[in-house]
Amino acid sequence: IKGIRKVYRVGSEKVVALDNIDLSIGKGEICCLLGTSGSGKSTLLNLMAGLEKPSRGEIIIKNIHVEKLDEKRLVLFRQKYIGFVFQSYNLLPSLTALENVGLPLAFKGIPRRIRDKKSKQMLHSVGLTSHNNRKPSQMSGGQQQRVGIARAFVGNPEIVFADEPTGNLDSKTTSEVMNLITDIARKSNQTLIIVTHDTNIAKYADRIIHILDGNIEKIEAVTPLGAITN
Ligand code: ATP
Ligand code: MG
Repeated sequence: IKGIRKVYRVGSEKVVALDNIDLSIGKGEICCLLGTSGSGKSTLLNLMAGLEKPSRGEIIIKNIHVEKLDEKRLVLFRQKYIGFVFQSYNLLPSLTALENVGLPLAFKGIPRRIRDKKSKQMLHSVGLTSHNNRKPSQMSGGQQQRVGIARAFVGNPEIVFADEPTGNLDSKTTSEVMNLITDIARKSNQTLIIVTHDTNIAKYADRIIHILDGNIEKIEAVTPLGAITN
C-alpha cells in the first residue's frame, strides 16, 4: 500500500478518511487494524479488497494493482484470492448453513456435489457438525459467525479480510471465534487482516496497525513474525 489517500465528498464538504498510508503486509501474516470509531479502518480494508477506489495511491496484491482493476476483473480477483468475514455475518436467510458456506464455490462454478463435500468439511472444522441444514435464524450469533468464517475460508483464499468479526458477540464467544479464525489462517499460511476497535482482539495478531484520524499512528509487533515484517 503506497501513498494512499481517500477523500469522500458529502455535498460540498470533503471528508479525508485516509491520508499518507504506506503499509506492507507479508504473506501469512495476521494483522489488526486498530482504532477508534471513524478513524478509517473500514475504509482501508475496503480499499485493499477493491470495494472502493482510492483518491490517490497504489494497492498492490500479488503484483496486481487493485486500484486499476475494472469491475469485472475485480470480481474475478476477489473470487480467486479473497475471503470476507462480516460483523453482521451477512448470511443469506433463505439458505441453509451448508448452502451459505458453499456460495463462494457456487460462484466459481464448482459442481454441487464437490461444493457440499467441501462445505461439510469446513463446517466440521468450525465445530458445527450437526447444523448443516439449519437456516441462519435457527442458529445463535456465534454459530452464525462460524458459518460466516467457514464461508470465508472454504475456497482456501490467500487473504481473508474481517471487519469487526466479533463486534456482535459476547467475550467468551469472541475468544472462541478469534482462536478459530487465527488457527485456520495459521494452518494454511493465509494472510488475515482484521479490523477492530478492541485491544483484546489485537493481541491475536502478529502486528497491530494503529489508525488515528486517517493516518497510521504506529505499528506494533506482537509476535516474532510481526517483528520481521515490521
Ligand atoms: P467504525 O469503527 O465506526 O466502523 P471506521 O474506523 O471503520 O469506524 P470508516 O468507516 O473507515 O471508520 O470512516 C472513516 C471516515 O470516513 C469517517 O469520518 C466517516 O464518516 C467517513 N466515511 C466513511 N464512509 C463514507 C462515505 N461513504 N461517505 C462519506 N464519508 C464516509
Ligand atoms: Mg468500520
